[in-house]
Amino acid sequence: MNILVINSGSSSIKFQGIEMPSEKVICKGIVEQIGSANARLSYNTNHINIQETGGLETHKDSLQRVVSLLLDPEKGVIKQISDIHMVGHRVVHGGNSFSKTTIINAEVKEKIKQYASLAPLHNPHNLQGILLAEHLFPSVKQVAVFDTAFHQTIPLVAQKYAIPNMFFTEHQIQVYGFHGTSHKYVSERAIDYLKLEKSKIISIHLGNGCSMTAIVDGKSIDHSLGFTPSTGLIMGSRSGDIDHSIIFYMVNNLGYSVNDVENLLNKESGMLGLTGYNDLRDIQAGVEKGNTNCILAMEINAYRIKKYIGSYASIMNGLDAIIFTAGIGENSSMLRKMVCSNLDYLGIAIDHSKNEEVAKEIREINTSLSKVKILVIPTNEELEIAKQAYELLE
Ligand code: AMP
Repeated sequence: MNILVINSGSSSIKFQGIEMPSEKVICKGIVEQIGSANARLSYNTNHINIQETGGLETHKDSLQRVVSLLLDPEKGVIKQISDIHMVGHRVVHGGNSFSKTTIINAEVKEKIKQYASLAPLHNPHNLQGILLAEHLFPSVKQVAVFDTAFHQTIPLVAQKYAIPNMFFTEHQIQVYGFHGTSHKYVSERAIDYLKLEKSKIISIHLGNGCSMTAIVDGKSIDHSLGFTPSTGLIMGSRSGDIDHSIIFYMVNNLGYSVNDVENLLNKESGMLGLTGYNDLRDIQAGVEKGNTNCILAMEINAYRIKKYIGSYASIMNGLDAIIFTAGIGENSSMLRKMVCSNLDYLGIAIDHSKNEEVAKEIREINTSLSKVKILVIPTNEELEIAKQAYELLE
């Protein structure tokens, strides 16, 4: 069975064709910067590696081009549309409605639309990917895998905000949690790798969005993103934790509208606001050149992660392993080193030469004396989505 996994974002569509249950990747790629002059598509199979530009003005153009490549007699991997047996979609916000992977129907689409107000940067684009895929694969089952689902185990004590109860009971204002597909995937891999029966793990997902999860015996018990994907760690362009009074101050005293502030905190803050750069590679290059804004931004970033490590070790009353994952977590030895330094009190000791090694597989970067394992685990949300979609059929 072939499952096509689609992760449709604001300006990109990531896709992967995965044969199940063998988990063999038959094709993968990404269309980036859709609609801009720099729009480009990369498409890989085990015999071909294509980069294209042009004709990628909209998400519709982009997905259509992907499908025509899949079907291409030379470059393709399928003969006909019906060779794709299921399409699995990443959906960021499923609120309290979805604790599991779900077959998409009109009601599910309506819910995803409703939750767009809680994840305005993600849900509308996830839904657009679903609608396009329904059009391109009309008789194929479409499945939604929600980033929030893994966090449905977060207990009330961590789920509720200290605001009047009716906001929780009547308006479902609470911690939801995100990046669940990634946290679930890497924590399961860690538990397998370390052969742990009982486990206390902190998973640190550092990509464009960044979050941390406290995971006890495979279950999420607390998480740094909350009602929306905006709290906690410092992200590419999102501020993470701030004193919410700053919002009122900007509106009441600095002449900003509420929409301006929302935009500012989501799209112009974080590492971008601190340095002028969104991509950590540029910021690291700035550090090498002695750019003081970049140096301080890296320190603020690492400091915030450390604070969450301390707080999660304390709520779990112990710690077996921390996991670094996603674009930054997997690749930035600089940030990993800054985060793990001076944590010997917690039994965390990084091996600096192992930290510098580059590998695409799960690896341990702690010293042999470290009480806590430090793991770098490449996330694979696409495989996790395919696995969950496949399980739905079994
Ligand atoms: P993701 O959301 O997991 O795709 O992560 C994307 C982010 O990872 C980019 O915005 C970069 O900041 C970061 N990234 C990717 N490659 C590297 C690298 N080699 N070193 C440091 N950061 C990286």
